[in-house]
Amino acid sequence: MINVTPIEIDQMMDWISSISEEDSPGTTRLLYKPSWVHAQHALRAKFEELGMKVEFDAVGNLFATLEGTVEPEKIIATGSHVDTVVRGGRLDGQLGIMAGYLAVKKLLEVYGRPQKSLRVISMAEEEGSRFPYAFWGSKNIFGIAKREDVENISDSDGVLFVEAMHKAGFEFLDGEPKFSKMDAFIELHIEQGNFLEKEGIKVGVVNAIVGQKRFNITLKGEANHAGTTLMSYRKDTVEAMSRMIVKAIDKAKEEGDPLVLTFGHVSVKPNTVNVVPGETVFTMDCRHTDQEKLNRFVSSVEADMKEIAKAMDIEIEIDMWMDEPPVPMDENIIGNIQKVCEDHQLNYQVMHSGAGHDSQIIASYVPTAMIFVPSIKGISHNPAEHTEAIDIVQGIQALAESLKSLAY
Ligand SMILES: [Zn+2]
Repeated sequence: MINVTPIEIDQMMDWISSISEEDSPGTTRLLYKPSWVHAQHALRAKFEELGMKVEFDAVGNLFATLEGTVEPEKIIATGSHVDTVVRGGRLDGQLGIMAGYLAVKKLLEVYGRPQKSLRVISMAEEEGSRFPYAFWGSKNIFGIAKREDVENISDSDGVLFVEAMHKAGFEFLDGEPKFSKMDAFIELHIEQGNFLEKEGIKVGVVNAIVGQKRFNITLKGEANHAGTTLMSYRKDTVEAMSRMIVKAIDKAKEEGDPLVLTFGHVSVKPNTVNVVPGETVFTMDCRHTDQEKLNRFVSSVEADMKEIAKAMDIEIEIDMWMDEPPVPMDENIIGNIQKVCEDHQLNYQVMHSGAGHDSQIIASYVPTAMIFVPSIKGISHNPAEHTEAIDIVQGIQALAESLKSLAY
């Protein structure tokens, strides 16, 4: 098995995460900003040092290819996104790129050139942190990002997307995408949850990415005097919301893993101590790996909400504004990674991803799977995001050996 040391991993991650906007705690590298341009070009040089052929596509995704000796047209790919959130950590996204770098470097040293081509992709953008558009990188690989979706959007400083893209030296994809053909894709990423850490497991083999539905729920009752309105005369929207939430959360707990349900934002009107709240708007976020179960659960919660509203004579409007399906990972690639973990006695478990990743876009076109490494306390999108390098070693070994089993 390939050998990678914690020191090598730390060196790589210190190097890449230091390419950040100045004065930012943690790493901030937003799409098409100078730090982003710097990182993509620094990565280009790094991959070229390994003897890989490095190309950019029109929009700025980077593709580093180690050509195969027997079937070079077959592409076994890995990688992740180079952009970060504002004040992000040193691992989210970029770990997957550096893991790909280390895996290819070690495989070359130990086994020489592969039969099929190995490719590491540094994807332009995943987070949607600078502009309100996510997965710009992976969607462009397959030509499914629409020009009109970004043509009129701008960042918080008022810089237009198109302007920023041109300034960075890139352009809209014109015609057929050039790098869409791959025979396998494996993305290594931090878990961004605390399952692996809690269970003492080093490698997560991801079998599915959850589907998500998000809602705004508006309740309209009657604002009234908190002292003079008797309890039986009230149309209190906070009471209605509370009954709805308790019922839904009880149901979610009964349903059990992997369903998760969150009411993360509440806004009450008039939001005053001595007035019965006449209007309440709250959000609901529900995720599951099984589409049918997700649909069924959400419909039953909606029915409960309507019933509670009706009984209390409160108006209700339920608006679903996000409906992303779950994305299963490829069974063969999952089996392949599992076998590698068994053969090399890596400490692994099959699990799902509760967060979205580039792999959910790629999986529609290419047999895809993911490898997770632990996240300390599950903290991510935060400068405190951390994993000890010693806890990343097995993940990179699993990645490298899986790439080897597919390409050599
Ligand atoms: Zn990420």
